Amino acid sequence: MNAHQATSDFQFDPSDYPAFKEKVRSAANMDPFADLALKEVIIHSEAIYDLPAVLYRTAPDFKQVLVVMDKTPMVRDQVSLKPLVSQILTQGGYQVTTIILEGDHFGVVHPDFEQVEVVHKQIQPGAVVIGLGSGVVADICKYACFLYDNEHNNQPPVPLISIPTANSVPAYSSSLAIISKDGVKRTWRTRLPNVILCDLKILLDCPHSLTLGGIGDMCAMYIASLEWFMGIYMEVIPDSPASRAILDEARPLLIQSASEIGKQTLTGMQMLAKILTLGGLAMTFADDSTPMSGYEHGIAHLLDMSAEHFHRPVRNHGSQVAVAGILVVLGFEEFFKKFNPAAVDVEQCYLSEDEMKNKIMKVFAEIDPTGKMGAECWRDYQKKLVIWKNVRPGFEKLLAEWGQIKPKMESLTLPAETYTKMLHEAGHPLTFEELGIQENQARWAYQNAYMLRKRLSTTDLMIFMDWMDQTWVDDIFSKAQSLVNRVQQNQQ
Ligand SMILES: [Zn+2]
Repeated sequence: MNAHQATSDFQFDPSDYPAFKEKVRSAANMDPFADLALKEVIIHSEAIYDLPAVLYRTAPDFKQVLVVMDKTPMVRDQVSLKPLVSQILTQGGYQVTTIILEGDHFGVVHPDFEQVEVVHKQIQPGAVVIGLGSGVVADICKYACFLYDNEHNNQPPVPLISIPTANSVPAYSSSLAIISKDGVKRTWRTRLPNVILCDLKILLDCPHSLTLGGIGDMCAMYIASLEWFMGIYMEVIPDSPASRAILDEARPLLIQSASEIGKQTLTGMQMLAKILTLGGLAMTFADDSTPMSGYEHGIAHLLDMSAEHFHRPVRNHGSQVAVAGILVVLGFEEFFKKFNPAAVDVEQCYLSEDEMKNKIMKVFAEIDPTGKMGAECWRDYQKKLVIWKNVRPGFEKLLAEWGQIKPKMESLTLPAETYTKMLHEAGHPLTFEELGIQENQARWAYQNAYMLRKRLSTTDLMIFMDWMDQTWVDDIFSKAQSLVNRVQQNQQ
């Protein structure tokens, strides 16, 4: 596959940003770009050398730059990346200040408010912020600039340029950021960078596991699209035609290009950079992470939150999402097979607050005896119980119209076998064991991820209908094991 073949059918190509904007406006019959800070998306193999020109276009009078990065050494085309970026900036006449974010004892930088503060307190008038890193650095920079903008609303917003060093998450083009609060992963509204500058040679030289994570994170499309549709249908969450239009294109595109991306070629990096940009913009247009974050993300977040307790480092986000996704799409298949609206006793689908609070506090006390995590989860879950009560007419409509909406829901996901084959073709891990996560820890996350947040997922329906007991969990895990064995044996 060459770059032309790979992009010839690509209607919404964000690397041609002016044309992209026109096409989205016309597909959605509205203008979702009106208030966005994002003015340029640059995706090509020498993009890093565009940096001085981009800075000049973005902030013509600014001569200072704050470059935010972590400590990880990075290489671009056999040259050390971070000194290269400083050199390009210095030669372009810029004064460079570097902000290095410190990692934990495994060297991993966590997206929390302490890190945001490290960047926030160094922002000053006349300086452009450049986030040179992966999703965590991008999120920290977006949120630090957002705070600064809010405190200085008599000044123009801080110019922010995001330079992805890995094709690992859609964070660069998302107006949301994931920042932990009391150890619980939370999504916050923030702002976009003014420019996303994707240099394909940087992305080509990033560790392969991060590229696989990018494929993995985008697998959320095959779950979240369905769950989001259900939310729109039950009138829990607003629709966004612009997000739906670009995701309808991105879903088949990832299946077609998974094997090319998995080979980590320049063409593959270009495809993934574009697909990730679409994923981030889908959240931006919806002003919510729901289109790209369903139950699989709940599982991945719980795995992160329990990592310290189980004495393992936080694993690759996207890969956790993809492997958790196998369980969720298998759950969808069971749901589509067994769900019989006539057999649902709606009265029985409402849980007692006290019972749920005790359950949540008990589950999270296992990994955080201080009770802070449990309290933070309960705060959101309590809202879910209220939402669930209020959405009863929507649920009753779903039961009454199930025959018509089931095919639509099925069209937004993938059969578990197709989903797993796609991951296998990309060379992506298929089991938690391959990610260094023991099965009992994965089971804990799968079983309890619904407690994490207020968002309604299809799995919540199963919880409310009392489907998800130990037998259900055992069955899904054993189905996942046989599916993975089958896919691996057929394609070797
Ligand atoms: Zn994600």
